[in-house]
Amino acid sequence: MAERIALYPGSFDPPTLGHFDLIYRAKRIFDKVIVAVAVNEAKTALFTVEERIKMLKEELNNYPGIEVTSFGGLTVEFAKKCGAQALIRGLRAISDFEYELSLAINNQKLEPSIDTVCLMPSDPYLLLRSRQVKEIVKFGGRVSHYVPPKIEKKLREKFPNI
Ligand code: ADP
Repeated sequence: MAERIALYPGSFDPPTLGHFDLIYRAKRIFDKVIVAVAVNEAKTALFTVEERIKMLKEELNNYPGIEVTSFGGLTVEFAKKCGAQALIRGLRAISDFEYELSLAINNQKLEPSIDTVCLMPSDPYLLLRSRQVKEIVKFGGRVSHYVPPKIEKKLREKFPNI
């Protein structure tokens, strides 16, 4: 049987324990999971693409069958290039549903051979969002329950006055 490959695209600005939880769970289903930082000029990010790749790689620590990269352009085009049969996405609260559904439908229209697989977050990360993690750190709060220690340190370095 052909190798089952999934592409997990996202901003990962920064990667959180919610993202890592999804990555490891996706790896239980697929032979290979490619985590790909989307290069999106329209979105203003706190971390550069290179910083995000480094944070993901450091944490995933050469985990067998998990790769980290970046991509620009259409997600399904990149997925095809990687030989992926599926896209991984996370569905947190109901609020994610409409957005994820429209992404999945658009991607299906563009490339019917690639399916979107949505995973529910594990309980502690149900409402965890990168945007809120950044806000908490910006105002001096601790986020050790949401991101690994090295990433919390990198977040603090982005807000040196706190
Ligand atoms: P985007 O900006 O495209 O939403 P993100 O980096 O925010 O990219 O998220 C990438 C994917 O990971 C999305 O499908 C999102 O729903 C999912 N995700 C983010 N945080 C969590 C979490 N705590 N639990 C489960 N899925 C998550």
